[in-house]
Amino acid sequence: MELYLYNTLSRSKEKFIGIKQGEAGIYTCGPTVYLYAHIGNLRTYVFEDVLKRALTYSGYKVQHVMNVTDVGHLVSDSDEGEDKMEIGSRREGKTAWEIAGFYTEAFFRDFKDLNCIMPDVLCKATYHIKEMIKLISALEKNGMTYGISDGIYFDVSKFPDYGKLAGKSHVEGIKAGARVEHNPEKRNPADFALWKFTPAGQQRQMEWDSKWGRGFPGWHIECSAMSLKYLGETFDIHCGGVDHIAIHHTNEIAQSEAATGRKFVNYWLHGEFLVMTGADKMAKSAGNFITLSALNDRGYGALDYRYFCFSAHYRKQLEFSWEALASSKQSLSTLRENIWSLQDDALKHGVRRNKAALPAIGAASAASGQNMDKKSAHHEKFRQAVADDLNVPQALAVLWEVLRDKTICPAEKLEFVKDSDRIFGLNLMSPRPLEELPAETASLIDERDRARKNKDFKKADEIRKELLEKGVAVEDTPRGVRWKIIKN
Ligand code: AMP
Ligand code: ZN
Repeated sequence: MELYLYNTLSRSKEKFIGIKQGEAGIYTCGPTVYLYAHIGNLRTYVFEDVLKRALTYSGYKVQHVMNVTDVGHLVSDSDEGEDKMEIGSRREGKTAWEIAGFYTEAFFRDFKDLNCIMPDVLCKATYHIKEMIKLISALEKNGMTYGISDGIYFDVSKFPDYGKLAGKSHVEGIKAGARVEHNPEKRNPADFALWKFTPAGQQRQMEWDSKWGRGFPGWHIECSAMSLKYLGETFDIHCGGVDHIAIHHTNEIAQSEAATGRKFVNYWLHGEFLVMTGADKMAKSAGNFITLSALNDRGYGALDYRYFCFSAHYRKQLEFSWEALASSKQSLSTLRENIWSLQDDALKHGVRRNKAALPAIGAASAASGQNMDKKSAHHEKFRQAVADDLNVPQALAVLWEVLRDKTICPAEKLEFVKDSDRIFGLNLMSPRPLEELPAETASLIDERDRARKNKDFKKADEIRKELLEKGVAVEDTPRGVRWKIIKN
């Protein structure tokens, strides 16, 4: 499948062509671990996860690298103010290292609950200080840097293409001092810190020696150093939220290309913001943020939120409201009910077939050419939606169409669900949860499982029969025991 992705760099949809045939290298800017991630941040990670899944679905072998910013992200984009880690440390009376450890774990709990596939390489900034120093040295050698009283800076006037990602107006804006407060020692308003010195007479919790003086790296150099290390001088895709276009990614391009002399990234993809009704955006600094566990407290699971994210295209702002989330939860639950009853149907036929040698599931419909055409038309529509810059809302609409289509048999519908869930990542094929069975039936399933594990197959068979009489069919799969309610 050919994928068309909107590239912020060219401001157009482009066909994705990997540098190495059949492979895709992706770098996604990871969390700054001084506080819990909010659901706005998580929207961006869900979008990036769908991108990864779409690439894998299209046959690419994906190499995904994600950083953890555990040092150097200052409160202001103008390289001023405190390091967020030190703020977290003071807020909670713990060391910056403890804060980083705690919120990194919390982040990956959310990440996994959202069913985001773990990166192939997970890299912490504090483990890559050597690489950052090396990169700054290369920039220094190329004449791109200068030192002032609080650190070593990148001189943007030496990089002619500065601002190519954000567009001319952005650069003009910076020049006018509109976006970034101007530190009078800097040569140009847009110049940014590569290495910041520990202020005289102070000791930071996170600081390292360098040839320029004791201090810590700038936030932007972290992502350049780690992406170059793990993906090479030029790689395929770099992602983040739209707020990163103007400064963070613009600066990453400048310093990476100025150091290597080569194009840094071929495709830049950015996810739009989750916004709060009546507010500009959801932000930790604005104090209007909601976490995944706050959703949980009100009865919403992580996958309800994932489904909610699919209500808008990733390049459109999405407005959060509890009503909209409730409606997503309801839709997902209806979707699951539909799928469970399809599974029940398929299993029922399967069981009858075993008993009375009826034709295999789907065999009747496979004979119908018209049915097959319809199925492949739906499939084609689904693939087109995904291929068109990850139009997941559209792809989801196709799934609903398939489920409603009375001319498609349950087994084929299930096949479609399974295939499409490779993109959605909603665990749509997971069986009806055990808790929904009466306690007595659930414990019979457990007992049978124990009997099987003890190789007491006679007992296991007896319990299977007993369960069948109760209207429950059990099946042993490589992933464990599955069960279905069969309505006799
Ligand atoms: P941070 O942990 O602040 O570095 O942000 C992590 C990711 O979340 C980055 O890719 C940001 O661009 C993204 N992000 C921040 N705020 C929002 C928001 N309100 N909606 C969507 N993404 C966001
Ligand atoms: Zn980054």
